[in-house]
Amino acid sequence: MTPSPSRAKRTMKHTEKLYDNDAYATSFSATVLEITPIKISETCSDVYDLVLDKTLFFPEAGGQTSDKGIISPESDSNAIFEVIHTSIENDIIHHTISAHTTSELHPGDIVSGEINFELRYNNMQQHTGEHIFSGIVHKIYGYDNVGFHLSEDIVTMDYNGEFTKHQISELEICANEAIVACHPITCYYPSDKELENIDYRCKKELTGPIRIVHIDDIDDCACCAPHTKNTSEVGLLKIVGYERYKGGSRFTIVCGTRALKDYRVKQKICTNASSVLSVPYTELEEAVSSLLKERNELRQKLHNMNMTEISQTAEKSSKRFLIIDTDDDGAVRNGVNILMEKSDTPCGIFFGNDKDGYRFILGHKNGDARELITRLKESFECRGGGKPQMVQGQVFTSYDDLNKFTDNLS
Ligand SMILES: [Zn+2]
Repeated sequence: MTPSPSRAKRTMKHTEKLYDNDAYATSFSATVLEITPIKISETCSDVYDLVLDKTLFFPEAGGQTSDKGIISPESDSNAIFEVIHTSIENDIIHHTISAHTTSELHPGDIVSGEINFELRYNNMQQHTGEHIFSGIVHKIYGYDNVGFHLSEDIVTMDYNGEFTKHQISELEICANEAIVACHPITCYYPSDKELENIDYRCKKELTGPIRIVHIDDIDDCACCAPHTKNTSEVGLLKIVGYERYKGGSRFTIVCGTRALKDYRVKQKICTNASSVLSVPYTELEEAVSSLLKERNELRQKLHNMNMTEISQTAEKSSKRFLIIDTDDDGAVRNGVNILMEKSDTPCGIFFGNDKDGYRFILGHKNGDARELITRLKESFECRGGGKPQMVQGQVFTSYDDLNKFTDNLS
């Protein structure tokens, strides 16, 4: 493959954006202007930067990820170049293509391209949903959309204002009413004079011709991306997240097929949880709260039992060091206090099991318990620390070896 002239030598002014006129077109023909190797590898596919005279591939811009798809030379339609990313620089669109063929592309070749329309349409639904929502937010509250991110799994929208729970719920209802109303959506380049009379939303200072996305009486916004031709095609807009963000707020939404996918996941979770808990899904919240309450009560009961058992063991034991299978720190600490009251010499409790290691709380009423950690470290993998009177940490060894060690300490 012959590298093309460098970008600096290029004389073309811009790439013709075919998606501007028809967001629903899926295939096109174009002429190769430049083809530049980016990575040639023995092990993975060769990757090139391809510039065409025109394209349907929407580049990553304005917070939206790019279109993907395939390109083939018209002379050999079986030769596939995968378009893995598209970007725009100085109004020229660059396709990053990965070669799945031994065929080559050269400047002057005619190619046919096909975009992944499932991905494109999904993006159109999310992006149009954002316009509807931001238009309504702007009309009702006067807040601006100051950030937008649309990737293959997330849509976030940032506003320079915050909302109450009630307002969030009302906004979602308003947006879905606008979707159902099937408002027409038009994208056009108004003249400078026309533009003066349009009150449009815009995130940044724009240069060059301004493309307006007009949604009936809902919204006018400067935007370069493909949108659906009416609001109904958005299908459904669901807010799935809201947080305070940089002095304003951030919404996470799903629209159209993503909303359906989200509903399916949540429906499955609800159905499974309902089945496990044997309650209708409408009673799930109550059932989970009651389970949590029950669990906390049982934990408290268990803790009380541990306190009694470990206290009694500590009181009755003739040993100064105990090894107990429990994870109840509170009960262990209480047991160590009892051992310390009984003895002026070092004492303490190791608790846990061979698999996860043994945690310990050790004390020395009239000496320095930290010496015990030094001795543990001489024999085992051990970490820990504390004050002279009491130390805590973890040691990794077996019950038998730990037992021998504590017998020698005693
Ligand atoms: Zn837009």
